[in-house]
Amino acid sequence: MTIPHHDWIAHHAAYAPESLAQVDLHSGRRFTYRQMHERVQRLASFLRNQCGVRKGDRVATLCHNSTDGFEILFAAQRAGAIELPLNWRLAVPELEFILKDAEPVALIYSEEFAPQVEALRGRLSIPHLILKREGEPSDYEAAIDAGIDPFEPEAATLDDVWMLIYTSGTTGRPKGAQLTYGNHFFNDVNAAMKAELTVRSHCLVYLPLFHVGGICVYAIPLFHFGGTVTVMRQFDAARALALLADPASGITHAFGVPTNFLFMSQLPAFADARFDHLVTVGVGGAPSPLALLELCASKGMPLTQAWGMTETATLGTFLSKEMALAKIGSSGQPVLHAALRIVDGEGTDVGAGVVGELLIKGPTITPGYWRREEVNKVALADGWLRTGDAAYVDADGYYFIVDRWKDMFISGGENVYPAEVEDAIYRLEGVGECAVIGVADERWGQVGRAFVVVKPGAALDEAGVLGHCLANLARYKVPKSVRFVAELPHNATGKILKHELPRD
Ligand code: ADP
Repeated sequence: MTIPHHDWIAHHAAYAPESLAQVDLHSGRRFTYRQMHERVQRLASFLRNQCGVRKGDRVATLCHNSTDGFEILFAAQRAGAIELPLNWRLAVPELEFILKDAEPVALIYSEEFAPQVEALRGRLSIPHLILKREGEPSDYEAAIDAGIDPFEPEAATLDDVWMLIYTSGTTGRPKGAQLTYGNHFFNDVNAAMKAELTVRSHCLVYLPLFHVGGICVYAIPLFHFGGTVTVMRQFDAARALALLADPASGITHAFGVPTNFLFMSQLPAFADARFDHLVTVGVGGAPSPLALLELCASKGMPLTQAWGMTETATLGTFLSKEMALAKIGSSGQPVLHAALRIVDGEGTDVGAGVVGELLIKGPTITPGYWRREEVNKVALADGWLRTGDAAYVDADGYYFIVDRWKDMFISGGENVYPAEVEDAIYRLEGVGECAVIGVADERWGQVGRAFVVVKPGAALDEAGVLGHCLANLARYKVPKSVRFVAELPHNATGKILKHELPRD
């Protein structure tokens, strides 16, 4: 059965026209559903009539976060296009690779990325380059003003692809994960059930809109249900903290990677902050130090741990706020519309408490990577997505993500999961941020190396860190060395880039 996909923005514009759809913190612009619908319609008309966009064509964006990002997503839908949000951290050759792979017919970019677009112009040909200045006069605003030709939106089904999101490519070439309207539909249902989203919900979004973190938790679900989204240009810990701690801001929900909460928790204002008025605050995307979760919970933050991936349109497992402390460290239970397995190296299911690779199947899973048939045969064999994550399930059915397989190392024949070691180091007073990797060692094969950022005003030395690890961890897990650094490398989402840490 082919199920039609409905135009949510048009629906809310018809039945709740004056409801607030989105707020742009940087420019101060606010849009009701009626206003958003109009701008989306005009932009879609421009894409169709002026740029010649046809069903399945790609429309790329290279922009910092703004409400325009969501306008473009919904305009792409009406024009029948697949939206390709580019990671603005990428260098020109990396952008070139993706653009050659995806072959978009149009690229909408904001002014600060003009140099990259200029450099790309000589390397590849994109028929339409559209400059945007966040509400200021620009090609983009002119296009919206001009887009008044008669225009019939393209009908879509739940199987049609809406977005093409390239994975970070930390191992090998980046791959474009295709996400369909159906993937989003079911993620929205999963998210609503777990994170308590309703028409009255208002989510603060600061994760990048080129990543599912910024798109799917919980902006797209809220546009589905007619709620409100406030968009922050880039993560600003002080501003995010102020908004989340202030009941008058109207914000009810947020989602972040652990680094977001770590940085907020290290601000002086955090000491007196309370978060009891929020409905749920999600944390996921990377292993969370337990000490950080405990600290946030002690401030009344209704924390919900979650596990997910780009390829799963985000949520795969979710830990309710009621269980946040009872099952601390767990990423929760499977969402309604997902099936999970944990298998050993031979693909055989393992029992409770045994670490294996997590597999996931269901309607939120990508139909495959763009133009990667060979990769898809392996990564999605029988519809089960191989996540590359090491996990176990406890006797009560709660899932624990131990770490990424590729971050695990073997020391003296024993598996070491860096997340566990980092978790212990975070419990040491004075540790601002840390990361552990495995490095080659003649005697043990591999040993741990810890990188530690010391909090301002604190003093730590290698012996102190190693002594703390020895007191709290089995000997083979204890790093052999500690390097103190001013900061750790992060990707634009805020996750630590372990492959950039020195191994020599
Ligand atoms: P990237 O690889 O660029 O970070 P994704 O955002 O798709 O791309 O990352 C998904 C990965 O993030 C998962 O495979 C897993 O390794 C990690 N992850 C997500 N949620 C959690 C969690 N709750 N705990 C530990 N790791 C997580």
